[in-house]
Amino acid sequence: MKGTINVQAENIFPIIKKFLYSDHEIFLRELVSNAVDATTKIKTLSRLGEYKGEVGNTTIEVKVDAKKGTLHIIDRGIGMTQGEVEKYLNQVAFSGASEFLKEYEGKVEDGGIIGHFGLGFYSAFMVSKKVEVITKSWKDEEAVKWVCDGSPSFTVTKSKKTERGTEIILHIDDESKEFLENQRIEGILTKYCKFLPVAIKFGTQSKMIDSPTGEKDDKGELKKESIEVDNIINNPDPIWKKTPADLSTEDYNKFYRELYPMTFEDPLFNIHINVDYPFNLTGVLYFPRLAKHKVELQKNKIQLYSNQVFITDSVENVVPEFLTLLHGVIDSPDIPLNVSRSYLQSDSNVKKISSHITKKVADKLAEMFKNDREDFEKKWSDVQIFMDYGLLTDEKFYDRIQPVYLLKNTKGEHKTFEEYKEIIKEKQTDKDENLVILYTNNAEADHGIIAKANKKGYDVLEMNTPLTAHLLQQFEMKMEKVTFKRVDADSIEKLIPKADSVESNLTEDQKGQLTPVIQSVVDKDKFVVQYESLSEDELPMVVTQSEFMRRMKEQAEIGGGMMGMGNLPESYNLVVNSNHELISKMLLETDEQKRSNMAQQAADLALLSKGLLRGEKLTHFIERSVGMIN
Ligand code: ADP
Repeated sequence: MKGTINVQAENIFPIIKKFLYSDHEIFLRELVSNAVDATTKIKTLSRLGEYKGEVGNTTIEVKVDAKKGTLHIIDRGIGMTQGEVEKYLNQVAFSGASEFLKEYEGKVEDGGIIGHFGLGFYSAFMVSKKVEVITKSWKDEEAVKWVCDGSPSFTVTKSKKTERGTEIILHIDDESKEFLENQRIEGILTKYCKFLPVAIKFGTQSKMIDSPTGEKDDKGELKKESIEVDNIINNPDPIWKKTPADLSTEDYNKFYRELYPMTFEDPLFNIHINVDYPFNLTGVLYFPRLAKHKVELQKNKIQLYSNQVFITDSVENVVPEFLTLLHGVIDSPDIPLNVSRSYLQSDSNVKKISSHITKKVADKLAEMFKNDREDFEKKWSDVQIFMDYGLLTDEKFYDRIQPVYLLKNTKGEHKTFEEYKEIIKEKQTDKDENLVILYTNNAEADHGIIAKANKKGYDVLEMNTPLTAHLLQQFEMKMEKVTFKRVDADSIEKLIPKADSVESNLTEDQKGQLTPVIQSVVDKDKFVVQYESLSEDELPMVVTQSEFMRRMKEQAEIGGGMMGMGNLPESYNLVVNSNHELISKMLLETDEQKRSNMAQQAADLALLSKGLLRGEKLTHFIERSVGMIN
């Protein structure tokens, strides 16, 4: 019989060929998915007792016949009757799958049928000049052969095929010769079909086995023999489809290596996702060890599947951005596939899925904290950057995570906010009842100041992820009466102001005498001279940097700060300790040169202790110091 395809097909074929998918290779995904569907269906029919025959070996075979220029996809699924061929293959975009589902609705568990991929079968014409379908239905009907050369006309004839199932033969067109290369086909199958639920064979593979006749070699060991076995492309039973209770950490780690063969490190821990209502979502997400790889935080590691068919590894519109730091697999037939990326974001299922994943991740972290605090603390440095990212970008994540967020102090202790507030509240509450949390982002460089803070009974946190400046702002916004201050933001006396008077005990006249001398020994664009009456054993001068100004600068540098603040200048305060003996001496000194030298040496020491004395100035300082001890 002859006929024409039941659409305005004249215009549709060139469209399929050129524009349907920029990625022509996905035709194979479509055809193998159809073969898997057909196989799942026969298994379902058999389970329901509708099909009484043998299901038999259902391995799907893909093979290339380079001589004939054909690519074959052969399945042992339900096949099609002549009527079905006419109905399904001749009506573009007519979905047999949805018909099947309707007919067997309620009887089919877990929706094991691959959904819509757009034009599905017709994507074969992206790479073929002619397509043949030879198929025999599970129903007792003669096999048929459908042939279409890409024009709207087709033929259907009887076929001698006796085995149940379908063989699709693509006569690859001249521009698509790459799809006749074994390596190319194997590559595509590995990419898209690696976890399809039915075994897929592509060629054979040699395998060494013990001699079946029991022959021994010179050493008395069993001889090895090489045999050819089916080369099975996929793992039909991937871990994310299994029950978490049946799986060990080793199973999860093994699967991690299967997903990322080039990764040698085990993940930190994993999250198994398994939802079937109100949307279907399964998957395993892994926490990579981030701390060691700060430099190259690897995104695009999560793979997105739809019923075990690989769709993409760029999931940025499906999960919140901070979650793209995770690795693993998400599988959901409820994520629309052939739509634009921007549309994805606004899809209501995608939104629900995204917030579900966020919740699962937060719950997992909270659970780890609760179940094994010690272990959680060990993993902290690896999860922190991820937590920071999440806290900053996702309101709900913040609410869930804040109670288990750990603050680490310079003594290496980890505390939650609640615990920490209790510990510091006595010493670190200022005159306005604000709790002042002190931190450093370089404990080594700030050693001197930290020691002084500790001596005063203050605790100092270590906070040094790239997101710290933004994060602190977030915490301050969310928590009442809590401020963060870097230990060098003020002189030790002023760091947590307890009373209003730490002002200087010098007269305006005395300040007027000293200021020009001191100002002249430092860069006047960078340092502002101030006076404070600090304790006598404090240094004569100290360098501080206003918390507010410094944070503005940091935020502007990593972006997201205020606009147009790209290059804020460094600015510091040079705090002169008016209680220090040296300052009194300077006031009494009449020799201008000597007075200037005193100011220079004191200022250099202040800069030195902040790591700010460099280059020529450092050289001069060293020479001058040597002169002083000689
Ligand atoms: P979809 O898979 O989205 O329904 P397709 O165009 O890929 O759309 O396929 C149309 C229909 O043709 C299928 O729904 C199915 O009924 C039938 N079909 C395609 N391939 C096969 C196959 N290998 N075995 C049995 N039926 C098939």
